[in-house]
Amino acid sequence: MPISKNINRYINNSLIRGKLCRWDKNSVFVFITPITGSAANKEFMYSQVERAISSWNSILRANNIPVQFLKVLQAEQADIVVHWVKVGRVYEGMCKYLSVVGTSLKKISIDIGLPNYYGRETTDLSIYCAIMHEFGHALGLGHGVEVDDIMFVPHQKNISTPSDNDILVLKQIYQQHFS
Ligand SMILES: [Zn+2]
Repeated sequence: MPISKNINRYINNSLIRGKLCRWDKNSVFVFITPITGSAANKEFMYSQVERAISSWNSILRANNIPVQFLKVLQAEQADIVVHWVKVGRVYEGMCKYLSVVGTSLKKISIDIGLPNYYGRETTDLSIYCAIMHEFGHALGLGHGVEVDDIMFVPHQKNISTPSDNDILVLKQIYQQHFS
């Protein structure tokens, strides 16, 4: 797909308090809160976060963006804490920027919705795509402008890999790393 003619809107959507913001360190520590209680698919859900982290790491490496997610076992050490939320309505995820200093991301919280028990049409792929999308936010991306963008909302298709638009904006965000 060619780069969207609305790419500037995507860049605009990625501004946090008027600026593109990024991690200014190579290793970003992620703590995945254990899932307590009787969620039917908790191993599956946990594994999808690990899978998303590892996919983003490959994508970042392939595009020479010097940032990698690293799983840690203590929340206190983490830059990003993944929480699980149980709700009785459609809720896939939410990324909150808890601390941003200048243009540096410092602390992020990601909520992932546990599939509920009310007959919602969630699929394994849609869960994975939603987690990929939230970690896109965690890298500093805002919402995309084309249906093929992993950061597009609402998801029209099950997009599990970033588009050229996603990558271009990500490179734009991290270009200061190279200067
Ligand atoms: Zn989003």
